[in-house]
Amino acid sequence: MRLTRLALALLLTGCPASYRYPELIRREASSPTVTVFRDVRVFSAVDTSAVDHQDVRVENGKIVSIAPTGTDLTGARVIEGAGKTLVPGYVDFHVHLTGSPAPPWKVAWPDEPHNLRALLASGVTSAMDVGGELERLKALWKSQAEPSYLGPRFWYSGQIVSLRDGYPTSMVNILFPWPANTVADKRFSGPVSEPLEAVAAVDWRLHNGAHHIKLAIASVPLNAQTMPPELVKATATRAHERGVKAVAHTDTAVHALRAVRAGVDALMHGIHLGALTAAEALELKQAGVVVAPTLVVFDRAEQLYERRFAPTDAEKWLYPADFLEPFSPAGSAGKTLDPQLLEWLAKLKADRADRIAAVKTLYDAGVPLLVGSDASGSIGCLAGGAYLDELRLLSEAGVPNADVLRGATVLPARFIAGPNADFGTIEPGKRADLVLVDGDPLADITATSRIAHVMQGGRLVERVP
Ligand SMILES: [Zn+2]
Repeated sequence: MRLTRLALALLLTGCPASYRYPELIRREASSPTVTVFRDVRVFSAVDTSAVDHQDVRVENGKIVSIAPTGTDLTGARVIEGAGKTLVPGYVDFHVHLTGSPAPPWKVAWPDEPHNLRALLASGVTSAMDVGGELERLKALWKSQAEPSYLGPRFWYSGQIVSLRDGYPTSMVNILFPWPANTVADKRFSGPVSEPLEAVAAVDWRLHNGAHHIKLAIASVPLNAQTMPPELVKATATRAHERGVKAVAHTDTAVHALRAVRAGVDALMHGIHLGALTAAEALELKQAGVVVAPTLVVFDRAEQLYERRFAPTDAEKWLYPADFLEPFSPAGSAGKTLDPQLLEWLAKLKADRADRIAAVKTLYDAGVPLLVGSDASGSIGCLAGGAYLDELRLLSEAGVPNADVLRGATVLPARFIAGPNADFGTIEPGKRADLVLVDGDPLADITATSRIAHVMQGGRLVERVP
């Protein structure tokens, strides 16, 4: 039955494209016991400051010391760091490892190994998956123990707990014709209509190893029904009873408040439709929620909508040219989208200034802002590239660079793994998940893209020439 449905989907939509993705990176065959990053500027993410001229010593996969330059280098591999800054490995707080960022007019098979490599090649050493097929994610998660695994360490939720026929089903239905829509929907949505079903949905995910629960309260298209408060409450409460956090896809201030009043722990996509008042931001702060604005999602959608999508230099390295072609003005010319989707896109564009202002309002209210890219979950959110672009967008929205970097490292690490997370900071005893960048990201956020070295668990990730 499943195969028949798939065959029908292919018949209607054309065969999803496969691509020859670049290898990008490999892990060094064997790593020396001791590595010293010599004479680096260190941004530890413990606070907002950086310290110049430090030697950071890594031993057996862990950071063992941070001391003024001039330490004993006997027997150590030395990585010269003058003019460079060492930061904790990036954490992408919003990825879809089993998805694809391809546009609906050129559907591509998801390529999980490439998604993983593109993230790690971009310095993302840890990631939180917030929506995908539970069985696939469970298998992928187990594969992390294999020596051949090459990607960020990750945590997953499985399918998004969603209102039956609400988002994301409502969006999938206007993006893809039947029966391709049902195939795509099964991968990402877990529809419920009453509280008992929500409880069962949470239990089923946790039974299959999920680390957190994702739910959606969003109107795409604009007139879509949204998850009512009692269902949000049932989902978040059950997640908490079972000892995990609940994260929600929200769009408006009304939906953000609905989520936090039900106890949701993190809001994905900030306030991207309509405005946010200081009083509303204060309520979000008092609720203790964290927010991932994912500004890149909306910029990319707008660029495609206006046929002016231009991949970054990083993305031209991360993805093959034929994969990027359908995004280009020529490759997207004449491709039409459903009128309901166009209406949503027009609203997104009209609300851009409000969306940027909301980021600053949240920051000023003291709400922790976390960096998530929606890698392979939203059209044009190219794995790794979109993350680096999100860092720039948050900085441009008025978040000080030190706080952008904390939102990219220590804050998501603590959300995922608790106050004693073994990653997200540069401190003795922590995992050696590190990114060495050219220049000073506190002065110029684009330095975060100029990656000289990525280290994960003490082993260097080497670029394939
Ligand atoms: Zn997403």
